[in-house]
Amino acid sequence: MDREEVFAGLREKMVEEQIAARGVREPRLLQAFREVPRHLFVPGEHAHLAYIDGPLPIGEGQTISQPFIVALMTQLLELEGDETVLEIGTGSGYQAAILARLARQVYSVEQYPALARHATHTLARLGFENVRVFEGDGSLGLPEFAPYRGIVITAAAPKVAQAVLDQLADQAWLVAPVGGRKGQVLQRWQRRGDTFAKEKLIPVAFVPLRGESGWKTRDWAE
Ligand code: SAH
Repeated sequence: MDREEVFAGLREKMVEEQIAARGVREPRLLQAFREVPRHLFVPGEHAHLAYIDGPLPIGEGQTISQPFIVALMTQLLELEGDETVLEIGTGSGYQAAILARLARQVYSVEQYPALARHATHTLARLGFENVRVFEGDGSLGLPEFAPYRGIVITAAAPKVAQAVLDQLADQAWLVAPVGGRKGQVLQRWQRRGDTFAKEKLIPVAFVPLRGESGWKTRDWAE
């Protein structure tokens, strides 16, 4: 067996044991996880760990999220295929790649230039033409391309900024971890006309959202 076959086998096991077995069963979504080579989104020295049931370091003190969490957050957006989606926190570009398989166009913002460049390169190399990565502070969203039919924030915010909620299309979902270093909960919001409904889902552990509406270093550390 060559290296790619070994990774494909590990990927299938990840889909079955970490994602489908835990209740995320949407066929298009599982297919996306079978097809996107997660080992190419983690640093080379961690490639052999790419399919484990947990997050991994990607540089700049940041992490690629646990596969199940990426799957759950993606499923919660209820994508059908023709949406424009915003991701705040590109990191490795893995979640953006999964979203790109399930929506028409993905915009993703990353604060660290090196991560933004690296993710752009990985996505281009794999032929993802429907993802655009922007470098900068995404804590207030990306109003240029709003409204979005789905928004995912992949870093923990003190709260979901109204400016970001305002970029949701009517009936669309926003999924985000909310809280601090000592405790966060995954939230899902839906725009219903001029009001926003919130659900609280499960406890999670993400790196902090920084920037204008994110955590200040001092407050996160406390
Ligand atoms: N979705 C990523 C996981 C990223 S971890 C993946 O699939 O790999 C969270 C990312 O959010 C980090 O890369 C971090 O640098 C980024 N981030 C944190 N605050 C940000 C902000 N205000 N604007 C843009 N990116 C931010």
